[in-house]
Amino acid sequence: KDDTTDTIQTDAGLRTPIVAVLGHVDHGKTSLLDKVRGSAVIEGEAGAITQHIGATAVPLDVVSQVAGSLVDPEEFDLPGLLFIDTPGHHSFTTLRSRGGALADIAILVVDVNDGFQPQTEEAIRILQDSQTPFVVAANKVDTVPGWQVDEDAPIKQTYEAQSDRVRQQLDESLYSIIGELSDAGFSSDLYWRLQNFQNNIGVIPVSAKTGEGIPDLLAVLMGLAQRYMKEEMEIDVTGPGAGTILEVKEEQGFGKTLDVILYDGTVRASDTIVVGGQNGPIVTDVRALLKPRPLAEIRTEKRFEKVDELAAAAGMKIAAPDLEDAMAGAPVRVVRDRDLDDVVEEVQAELAEVAVDTGEE
Ligand code: GDP
Repeated sequence: KDDTTDTIQTDAGLRTPIVAVLGHVDHGKTSLLDKVRGSAVIEGEAGAITQHIGATAVPLDVVSQVAGSLVDPEEFDLPGLLFIDTPGHHSFTTLRSRGGALADIAILVVDVNDGFQPQTEEAIRILQDSQTPFVVAANKVDTVPGWQVDEDAPIKQTYEAQSDRVRQQLDESLYSIIGELSDAGFSSDLYWRLQNFQNNIGVIPVSAKTGEGIPDLLAVLMGLAQRYMKEEMEIDVTGPGAGTILEVKEEQGFGKTLDVILYDGTVRASDTIVVGGQNGPIVTDVRALLKPRPLAEIRTEKRFEKVDELAAAAGMKIAAPDLEDAMAGAPVRVVRDRDLDDVVEEVQAELAEVAVDTGEE
């Protein structure tokens, strides 16, 4: 069995865009991620959704099954979407790649009852500073009094089926969100009224509880990425990997390990890597490259499966010696056929930035 087959990638050398979720506490970030994962599991063939370490991959065929007529897979060559599992601002700001945000695109979750709150404003500033494109998920539409649920339906269909009174009330909430976005300097509208997503923010009414609007959310993310980010997704899929450390964890049988999101190239079990540490770059050899074991096999007590190679974009666990000083948010680089000193210098330069950033927070 080929261990690399579930690393979603295409011959074109296009990687999966990395998606982050931001927003005010209790507005539904975690629920939304759970719903996306849940819908993908239900719609996907068994195993079609790939569980990564720290992230969830939703391949294009699953996106198109969830999104139905909203996504024609023939129109896309990006391989799907990779959602970072940890929502929130801290995770977003610590996870960087080459000076920018690790996430290529963000979902700003806003509770329709609650509108803009302090952390919504903060999220907007963070997204603005990092120049990260985003969409707004106007969440909890099912809480509008009188709302008739149509589970997992596209939002326009369920919106149009509501009574005039329900629709009016939702409209008011949505327009106040659009007004607040305008105050923050962003032109926005309900996504189905937008022609141009480059200068306008799409607002997508959703319910993380009932799944309404989830097809639209996936369709809009996929469309945005395909239309405006394709060039950034062009990578050398066989080149030496570059990634960012999500977490440094002790793991039974492996010692200290790194949970890494890889955004470029590949990591192989035979690679030498340079890792950002508290006292500067660490040069070490990969001892094991790990991904989660499929759910069906989870009872075999071992949670991880060793693989020979993983390609971006992907979440993975790397076991290696000498990781005591490794830091979350720091870079990981594969050396492969490059000059070791150059790679160490690269990591050193990025570490300087990481240190400055955490100093500011
Ligand atoms: P987070 O703090 O942004 O991650 O928010 P959570 O996902 O933990 O959600 C906060 C609360 O809102 C929880 O009790 C959720 O069950 C609830 N919630 C989230 N999304 C929805 C939704 O679309 N509809 C309803 N009715 N409740 C929701």
